[in-house]
Amino acid sequence: MPTTHQFDAIIVGAGGAGLMAALYASKGGAKVAVVSKLYPTRSHTGAALGGIGAALGNLEEDKPIWHAYDTVKGGDYLADQNAALVLAENAVDAVIELEHMGLPFDRTPEGKISQRRFGGHTSNFGEKPVRRACHAADRTGHMILQTLYQQCIKNNVKFFDEFHVVDIIMNQGACAGAVAIELGTGDFHIFHAKATFFATGGWGRVWRVTSNAHTLTGDGAAAVFRRGIPMEDMEFYQFHPTGLYGLGVLLTEGIRGEGGILLNGKGERFMVKYAPNIKDLASRDVVSRSIYLEVRDGNGVNGKDYVHLDIRPSTVNKYLEAAGETRRVDEAYIARVLAETLDVCRTYAGVDPLTEPMPIQPTAHYAMGGIPTNIDAEVISDARDTVVRGLYAAGEVACVSCHGANRLGTNSLVDLIVFGRRGGMKVADYVKHADFVPLPANPEKETEAEFKRIRNSKGKTRPVELRKEMQRIMMDKCGVFREGKMLDECVTDMQNLRERYRKDLHVDDLGSKYNTDVLEAWELGCLLDLAEVTAVSAANRTESRGAHSREDFKERDDNNWLVHTFVTRDSTDVYTDGNPKLVIDTTKKVDMSLAEKDPAFMPKVRSY
Ligand SMILES: Cc1cc2nc3c(=O)[nH]c(=O)nc-3n(C[C@H](O)[C@H](O)[C@H](O)COP(=O)(O)OP(=O)(O)OC[C@H]3O[C@@H](n4cnc5c(N)ncnc54)[C@H](O)[C@@H]3O)c2cc1C
Repeated sequence: MPTTHQFDAIIVGAGGAGLMAALYASKGGAKVAVVSKLYPTRSHTGAALGGIGAALGNLEEDKPIWHAYDTVKGGDYLADQNAALVLAENAVDAVIELEHMGLPFDRTPEGKISQRRFGGHTSNFGEKPVRRACHAADRTGHMILQTLYQQCIKNNVKFFDEFHVVDIIMNQGACAGAVAIELGTGDFHIFHAKATFFATGGWGRVWRVTSNAHTLTGDGAAAVFRRGIPMEDMEFYQFHPTGLYGLGVLLTEGIRGEGGILLNGKGERFMVKYAPNIKDLASRDVVSRSIYLEVRDGNGVNGKDYVHLDIRPSTVNKYLEAAGETRRVDEAYIARVLAETLDVCRTYAGVDPLTEPMPIQPTAHYAMGGIPTNIDAEVISDARDTVVRGLYAAGEVACVSCHGANRLGTNSLVDLIVFGRRGGMKVADYVKHADFVPLPANPEKETEAEFKRIRNSKGKTRPVELRKEMQRIMMDKCGVFREGKMLDECVTDMQNLRERYRKDLHVDDLGSKYNTDVLEAWELGCLLDLAEVTAVSAANRTESRGAHSREDFKERDDNNWLVHTFVTRDSTDVYTDGNPKLVIDTTKKVDMSLAEKDPAFMPKVRSY
């Protein structure tokens, strides 16, 4: 029999979003547990390097409305404008609050929070780049995670570490909690809660080259999706332009913020061609596509599929001088502000960025889409904004949607803090008056059967083989550039892989304690589900917008496509229905509330 635990609220995931939600729910008086498959400070938020954006205006004039504008424009006008405004306005408070909690931000000489430039962030509605990214060296995410974890401990939040949540429990149209497996024992646990909050992060492991940690397998999104909740805007997946060649390890955009330059195999600064105005600091989708085109035209370094990122002081100073800027950098400065980056390059690529350029290629990085929510982190179940009682989501797993078709750098950390906090407050309010939804009989039954099936499967294919195949296909057919026929093939490929996953799997470890073999096999099932939804959503959207770039529909089509994509599974038979139908709904229009007041927010052709 599984052990049953009861809390007002359980938060699934202990990254920035989960910890912020836990902190605010507990501050509001709720009895809160955080359930996390990783030890909290190992969450991917800790890998975020560059910074968190907020219009503090510490170094030059800045305003939240300019931040909202950049967010909407960077998102290629698919961002819900009400959500982008909340993001930009709440960011200012939220960052100052982190400072008050003890987060050691870098300082200006006057003692204010220091800020640096980042791609796509400008002042006065796109006029010129602005210093908006607050940073603690290039360890900003690490510091956020440590600060929030300490605050949660202080506030008596209960932690269940190394517990994998594998299902949500739905009853009477509401969420009654979640089912989890304890890694150390293999035992099932039932978490019975008034509010269940998903903050499980992204799923970069769908692709071959990715900046995402091994654990980012989309479990939370898949678990919710399998119970009939739609996934929103899944065709929009961001490739970050500067992944370390061959490995995908992320090199922060802060490098270009500090003056780093992209150079092709001929030593040319090619971004001048693609974004004459903002050059190397154009938004990520634009830079990733430019690199792809350079490589396709034979301008990769040594004829290979990578280009160079150069932060050597001699290079940076040359371009600063040419731009008429007075600022200069030296080795000591670069070594201080990009300490983590230098370390990563030396360790993983054997390249010292102070003396040689870094080899880079685009790497799968961030999910703009996910579990649909409103601006208070309440999950919605359809294009008409119907709220699912007791179910919440925030952070990368959620789609608010404040990032639209493409997220700006630093805006994910803002999203975690802003919507984690709003969600936490909403939960605290909700649990005060809500009752527990009764648990159905044996809520672990279906998942237990699935784990039994995986453990006892006698097929020929190991999960790692299927995973590699999925990652290769998604990279080739549903990556930086897309095209109709390839996307259709990709959908069929994913369905075939899922069929093999059901019928021909083979796992080696038959034990129950610390059986990561079986858990990884289960995680692969999540990745396959999300890969298929991504391909289906991408095939359906016949335009190019933000991170979704189609060779057969090169233009953005504002007449037909200022709408969100909702994909729902027609069956909530979680594991046994081999081929559930995916239903697409594109009736939800993008929120244009800022454009109604100010024409600056109307969709415009992008120029750089
Ligand atoms: C290398 C890198 C650098 C980045 N740099 C920046 C940056 O400078 N600025 C910026 O704004 N953004 C950056 N990002 C993006 C940003 O860091 C992430 O989008 C964000 O941290 C996600 O936070 P989260 O709280 O949603 O999830 P995560 O921090 O990924 O945490 C997910 C949590 O969910 C838990 N979990 C997952 N599945 C389960 C399960 N089945 N059961 C229980 N628990 C589960 C995990 O244990 C973990 O605690 C970067 C991302 C990467 C990969």
